[in-house]
Amino acid sequence: MNVDEQVSSYYDLLLKRNAGEPEFHQAVAEVLDSLKIVLEKDSHYGDYGLIQRLCEPERQLIFRVPWVDDNGDVQINRGFRVQFNSALGPYKGGLRFHPSVNLGIIKFLGFEQIFKNSLTGLPIGGGKGGSDFDPKGKSDAEVMRFCQSFMTELSRHIGEYRDVPAGDIGVGAREIGYLFGQYRRLVNQHESGVLTGKGLTWGGSLVRTEATGYGLVYLTQEMMAAHGESFSGSKVTVSGSGNVAIYAIEKAQELGATVIGFSDSSGWVECPDGVDVELLKEVKEVRRGRVADYVSEAEGATLHTDGSIWDKPCDVALPCATQNELDGEHAEHLFNNGCRFVAEGANMPSTADAIEVFREKGVHFAPGKAANAGGVATSALEMQQNATRDSWSFEYTDQRLHKIMSNIFRHTADAAAEYGREGDYVVGANIAGFKKVADAMLAQGVI
Ligand code: GLU
Repeated sequence: MNVDEQVSSYYDLLLKRNAGEPEFHQAVAEVLDSLKIVLEKDSHYGDYGLIQRLCEPERQLIFRVPWVDDNGDVQINRGFRVQFNSALGPYKGGLRFHPSVNLGIIKFLGFEQIFKNSLTGLPIGGGKGGSDFDPKGKSDAEVMRFCQSFMTELSRHIGEYRDVPAGDIGVGAREIGYLFGQYRRLVNQHESGVLTGKGLTWGGSLVRTEATGYGLVYLTQEMMAAHGESFSGSKVTVSGSGNVAIYAIEKAQELGATVIGFSDSSGWVECPDGVDVELLKEVKEVRRGRVADYVSEAEGATLHTDGSIWDKPCDVALPCATQNELDGEHAEHLFNNGCRFVAEGANMPSTADAIEVFREKGVHFAPGKAANAGGVATSALEMQQNATRDSWSFEYTDQRLHKIMSNIFRHTADAAAEYGREGDYVVGANIAGFKKVADAMLAQGVI
């Protein structure tokens, strides 16, 4: 069997055994495609069922999460934790609370997390979890009761050396607080290393809040510099307006860019003179409002409920909302309107078609597993601080993050060049992330 046939046989079996999970298929297809050139050159990576083992989670948990709403009615949600790979360290990855969550979504996120976490250079394995619970429109008390019920089951499966969850879409400081409180109560110990994204007075790390957005901009800065450009004077569009988007906007503007648009699921905001970041934080983080609330108070901002944010001319596009939000047609529009750099703040926001367009047209593209790794990397720094009962300064932690993002870009670019695909950061990130995990798995035997 040649490598193409070998990889197709793995993939065909995976489709059969994981029916109805299109996002998981998409994430695996992209990685397998990148790995063909590795298998051609180093065929030992095809031994010992390595690739098939890598695509099969070590453990998948699905559980019932019952809770009582403010009307006294019982609500039932579904909880998930997929512990994908622990060859490099304890499972690490966020929890997503969103009505779209199902097993396939958690598996795609957990699979991507393996390579992302490997790229950080820190000792963390890959996992992901969450629930189809929708925190939007729920009272604080309802969110608390849900989190307590969710943690009552999850607590059996996590731990400082086993699995360390954190936030993702729908899980921020409030949810981590309720989850940690319930965990602490159940185990009767203050084990700060069991979750990351904690509050600053109880084991949290400075910069964790900013980390994904800042890290995204640091990596994009490196990518732009490699092609002779910088943020200064550039026009940037950012989709989303959650944690990743807010801090990407803040850092990009600090570096001299003008962020001319951002969005949420209700529409997108056009702001030719840039974003008032303090107002955006107040609306989204304090009031838990919508972009329309921002527009009603910001000068020179308009709300669009039709068309797409990707139709707006820009130099740099940073998709920071959710998976598959940017398709082939959007990619064509971005290119035709002059966009030359795209970096993913969300997980898999670009479809396979979009990535193909970027490749063909020569738009420099940094995939999420490299570009948004700053969040989980800073979580690993939080784990280091917890293990030593220390807390580092903002400056020191930010420097560490910056260095990690520079290294990720360098390793990604080097891996692409080594395999004759210079500038293809998708292939580079997949290969660089894969090799470290694969070497560890081969060293540790068939388990
Ligand atoms: N949910 C984030 C991610 O997609 C962060 C995970 C973490 O900090 O563990 O990488």
